Amino acid sequence: MLKNERKILVGNHELIKYINKKNVLDTIFHEKEISRIEISKRVKLAIPTVMRIVDEFIHDGLVSEIGKGNSTGGRKPNMLSINPDARYFLVAAISESAHCVVADLGGKILGDYELAINFSGQEDFILAQLKNCMGQAIEKSGLSIGDIAYCGIATPGMGFKYFTAGRIGHVFGYWSKLSIDFFKKKGNFEYPVVIENIAKMGALGELKYGRGKDLNSYLFIYAGVGIGMGVVRNGNLELGVTGTAGEFGHTTIDYNGQECYCGNRGCIESYCSTIAFCREYKRELINNGFNTGRDYSISDIAEAVKNGEYFAVKVARRIGVLLGIGLANVINLYNPAAVFVGGELCAIPLCIETAFEEAEKHIFMNASREVSFLMSSVESQVITMGTLGYAIENYFDEYCTLC
Ligand SMILES: [Zn+2]
Repeated sequence: MLKNERKILVGNHELIKYINKKNVLDTIFHEKEISRIEISKRVKLAIPTVMRIVDEFIHDGLVSEIGKGNSTGGRKPNMLSINPDARYFLVAAISESAHCVVADLGGKILGDYELAINFSGQEDFILAQLKNCMGQAIEKSGLSIGDIAYCGIATPGMGFKYFTAGRIGHVFGYWSKLSIDFFKKKGNFEYPVVIENIAKMGALGELKYGRGKDLNSYLFIYAGVGIGMGVVRNGNLELGVTGTAGEFGHTTIDYNGQECYCGNRGCIESYCSTIAFCREYKRELINNGFNTGRDYSISDIAEAVKNGEYFAVKVARRIGVLLGIGLANVINLYNPAAVFVGGELCAIPLCIETAFEEAEKHIFMNASREVSFLMSSVESQVITMGTLGYAIENYFDEYCTLC
């Protein structure tokens, strides 16, 4: 079952019941340990209501009593905690490869598997590779398919306006033709699945497991094989009317510029993705008479920048400047408290630091200059953790709706 097949709530009574349960469950989940009295204060519900709801969670194994807490005058209260191994989740983060992870409610990774995906095959072939990777991760965790409560998939995006992979080769190839409908019909997943954009999942990773918890409104820029953005405002992830908000990578910084696979020219992604970086580095070497006849990976270039290799440093600074101009555009639009950058491009800190310096120069309003520039605080795990958080959130949502 996919998310949008969830039971529709009917009537005020059911809705209130759902909201109360969800608030209590979220409160227990976000605290390491908490008493019933403290929950009742936080969610503004009568103690008997909290007790009844908590009893249900204990009965279903989601919550456990873990001992006595400190007294605030009366008897020592029984403390509650989420039972981390009550439910298990499967996460798949897709970029050039699929990284699949099985984790528990406490965020502990029980098994993971990475598989380079061949995107040049048709949709069925891509789906089969993904399912293979998911199966391997479950096997490595020692669990079985039936143990998975919910699955989250982070993707580079689906349903692009143009499918031009034949004209301008792109790593995602046939992936861009996939749709949530296709997943629904052909996936035959044995567990409920939610699918979201990779940059939005990065933004959620910071919110649930990183420094985003302390910031109300911020932007998360995913800089990897693509460039994307997740927007968090007032503690909520912005999806847009049809769920496509944040396509920062396909905003134009030069309308006569580099052709992009999306059908436009001069998109920021066509200059600042890791694919663009590798292409530009090779071009720089060739233009300067160093035709080595080979391709370079982002980790080759990261090493070259670290060693101070002249052309690698030059390209890192040039791409950093372009990314910085793009960052200033979105800072001017959103006035965020912070901008996080995560993704494979962070392997080249010089590029990101240059982007931050450049962005500062182009911010229009003095008041917007208070923005903090931050590398992802959850580092390489930010997408995986964000997608895990998203799967857990959807599971809780469904659990509180259905029971
Ligand atoms: Zn584009």
